[in-house]
Amino acid sequence: MLLMRDEARRLAAARTFRRHQSLIADIHTGSAVPDELRLQKLHEILAAASRAELYADSVPALLADDVMRLRPLAEVLGALPLLPRSELSAHSHATFTVPLGEFLHYYETSGTTGPASAAPKADDDLIVNTVNIGEMWARFLSPGDIALILIIGALAPAPYQFEKVFEYLGITSLRPTVDYIDGDYSKVLRLIDELSVNVFVGAPSRLLAMIQFAARHGLAVPRFDRLLLIAEQVGPACLRHLSRLTGAEALVGSFGSSETGTTAVTCERGQLHLQLQSYVLELLDERGVRVVDGAADSGELVVTTLDLPGRPLLRYRTGDLIEVVGTPCACGLALPVMRTRGRESDVLAFAGGTVRQEDVESALWVDGSPDAAVLNYMLVIHEDEIVCLVTTDVLPDNGWADRTASRIAHVFPAHHLTVRPVEVLSPLATLSGDLGWKLSRVLDLGDIGAWSRLPTSLSHVVKETLESRGVMVCPR
Ligand SMILES: [Zn+2]
Repeated sequence: MLLMRDEARRLAAARTFRRHQSLIADIHTGSAVPDELRLQKLHEILAAASRAELYADSVPALLADDVMRLRPLAEVLGALPLLPRSELSAHSHATFTVPLGEFLHYYETSGTTGPASAAPKADDDLIVNTVNIGEMWARFLSPGDIALILIIGALAPAPYQFEKVFEYLGITSLRPTVDYIDGDYSKVLRLIDELSVNVFVGAPSRLLAMIQFAARHGLAVPRFDRLLLIAEQVGPACLRHLSRLTGAEALVGSFGSSETGTTAVTCERGQLHLQLQSYVLELLDERGVRVVDGAADSGELVVTTLDLPGRPLLRYRTGDLIEVVGTPCACGLALPVMRTRGRESDVLAFAGGTVRQEDVESALWVDGSPDAAVLNYMLVIHEDEIVCLVTTDVLPDNGWADRTASRIAHVFPAHHLTVRPVEVLSPLATLSGDLGWKLSRVLDLGDIGAWSRLPTSLSHVVKETLESRGVMVCPR
């Protein structure tokens, strides 16, 4: 599975692979992950963590406590402090338990919303993560499928990780690059067509940008059998929208982050199953912290990695809000099902109430409308005016913008909303994976510098729209 010259390293990798594959085989017969196994793995990971500078104050003392060794999982974890994101990004190298030279590849978190965290991959965690994802996807993918990995991230582990998954599954994959900002997709569209690519892996905003490019250049919108969407909050409206546009079954493929690895993976039913064989997960809210045991619950996801001995994360606060569904999935797996609820920072708060991404998208993207369809959107807010900039699949008729505005007006009861079709959106709209929804799709002109984030053609449309409403603005 890994081509490595050094025999000892190759044998160690083979051992890790065999051990994990046999555990996963049990899980895929429907067995739950035994608590004793998780507790044993936790003790092993704590032993590794005791070598890391970041945990020098907490872990060695915990390990020295003989009584603690006999305690249940929740109690052992409860003795450790929570690790906030800011602390990890300030000291990410201090989580390393081995010298940097022992990792396979160096990666970092995107760092667009704060300092980047180092997230290198080692042999063992690459193997475990690949088997975790691969065995879930093997339930609905098979050799003969052709997969396109369209992920743009200079130092992100995801593109390579998915490439390994397809190698593991014996599926041919391609991983072309597209310029971040200009996004010329003609070569990718040609490859999809020529190679009969039937599986897409990537972020929804990237797929939308490609579809938008095809529509604008008179090219056929690509069709797929399956979309495995990652890296962004994807609600039911977005899944339906992308499925309608591409004819594919749209699934949230996996969930996780560069620093934690993949904490949940989809089954054939489109349900994200938590990978409890590799993580102890907790939920945090104003009531406190609970270990995820499969019961219905929700809160901020707190992650302890059981299979990342090179740089263990202990009680890492991800900032992601999730919901554990609490009912078994029809696929037969005993791993609990979760749904993503985005990030708290991605909620728009107005005097009249809050608005979430799903509220906007379920109003904007509707089934079976005979009208031009909205491909993608951005919201520009100026006090109590909102200009919704949209791209469409075909040229809309005269009354279209008003009809669309009246369809979504109820989402913003305290604002006046105008819809304006445009040819191209700001490159910002394709950065949801890095920035989150609010920073990539919502521009508040009350923020200093907001105008400069709009290309000239769009700031002209916004200015003209606001002026037609009697609002005078001066773009900088
Ligand atoms: Zn399932």
